Amino acid sequence: MLGKLLKIIGILLLALVSVLMTRTFLYHSRQIEEAPVAKVAVSDSVIAHLSGAVRFPTVSYDDSTLTDTAAFRHLIAYLQQTYPHATATLHPKRISGASLLYCWKGSDAQLSPVLLIGHMDVVPALDPDKWEQPPFSGAVSNGFIWGRGTLDDKVNVISILEAVEMLLKEGFQPKRTLYLAFGQDEEVGGAHGAGKMAAYLEQQQVKAGFLLDEGMMIARGLVPGIAKDVALIGIAEKGYLSLELSVDAEAGHSSLPPKETSIGILSTAVSRLEQHPMPAGFCEPVNEFLDHVGPEMPFFSRMAFANRWLFKPLILQKYESTHAGRSVVRTSTAPTEFHSGVKENVIPGHASAIVNFRILPGETSEQVIQHVKEVVHDERVHLKRYGHGNEPTAVSDYRSDSYSAVRKTISQIFPGVLVSPSLVVAATDARHYSPVAANLYRFIPIIVQPDDLDRIHGLNERIAEADFKNCIRFFRQLILNCNP
Ligand SMILES: [Zn+2]
Repeated sequence: MLGKLLKIIGILLLALVSVLMTRTFLYHSRQIEEAPVAKVAVSDSVIAHLSGAVRFPTVSYDDSTLTDTAAFRHLIAYLQQTYPHATATLHPKRISGASLLYCWKGSDAQLSPVLLIGHMDVVPALDPDKWEQPPFSGAVSNGFIWGRGTLDDKVNVISILEAVEMLLKEGFQPKRTLYLAFGQDEEVGGAHGAGKMAAYLEQQQVKAGFLLDEGMMIARGLVPGIAKDVALIGIAEKGYLSLELSVDAEAGHSSLPPKETSIGILSTAVSRLEQHPMPAGFCEPVNEFLDHVGPEMPFFSRMAFANRWLFKPLILQKYESTHAGRSVVRTSTAPTEFHSGVKENVIPGHASAIVNFRILPGETSEQVIQHVKEVVHDERVHLKRYGHGNEPTAVSDYRSDSYSAVRKTISQIFPGVLVSPSLVVAATDARHYSPVAANLYRFIPIIVQPDDLDRIHGLNERIAEADFKNCIRFFRQLILNCNP
């Protein structure tokens, strides 16, 4: 009897191993090789152009009265002077006062247009004394251009304009209409810049084949198990929701406290939310990411990724062990504000807190609210939406010709780099353009290493001159690839 049982177990194990192996060996690389293109010469003058753009302190503040409107005006004038061919041919239009919309008319009106976007505003540079080079100096030193905006996102605006200027000087004429849209307020939501430009394009009945915005980069040493650089193309963006939780309870003297106070009730509710987040899982962009990087991994990881039906809990556990990993497998829960009390010996009658959620594609803000109600499970805690919010974007097509054009361009300019679709966990301007572009992709071709991530919105933002020049080559090649 025992022998028979062992035999059956043995057969089952053998079957399992053969399924795992078969799936692993059938788990083919999704990478497509492209012949590299010759590196076009990029003049050193571009360095001064980016450095010059960084010197305008086009900072966005939540309180818009703090905005230095002259800085925006001067940057716009600077762009128009620095790129005279683009100005003469693409007739930049000012929208919302400080956003710029360029149009390069294609020769074939049948072809769907392309939209390249970026933003001219930057976040404030706190602690300027701690920077190695002053944040608005645009200093050029040791092969780097320094300053706020060199990664996020003036590099994008300048690279696109340099590429267009180069092509115009070469006498190039696109078949496909190309729009360039540079917003003024991405860092505070983009409603005036991207929002208004998208509305204008919608009015003109523009329907672009695709849009390319910032959002993801070329990750070096950032994808566990992969030694090669990985170019991540964001094909979807998480949604955004803030909820205000508030409690009104008995106020009084702290010498005679009631059994439960507004602070206690609210703390329990917030703590429950942290303990019980939305469920973990792989949404479509993350599944695609796993299938694009999985085949490139060492054997055991490859086997796990190829057999997610069995190893999903293990992979999820691994992802959940880091902040970055957790952010792509869950709708995140972040308590960001807590207000109550005015005096140490007075029990406040009111307490309120804000909790911010970033919603995975496939889920909705209504589902999050329902989940919060169930988890808090306390009638005394009142819930309401707080500030602006948006649903996750649709997932853009990674099998489309336009995705292929972006992918191909990356492989031509950065030979050997792996390319993969991915999920953007923060918000970009791209989402405003959903009505006017069939596909939204988020990628700028800059190589980032672990220590670079802190520079974005942090101290010592900078870009290597060589990386910046490759960025220009990328956009030039992308425009060519869209106009075969
Ligand atoms: Zn940005």
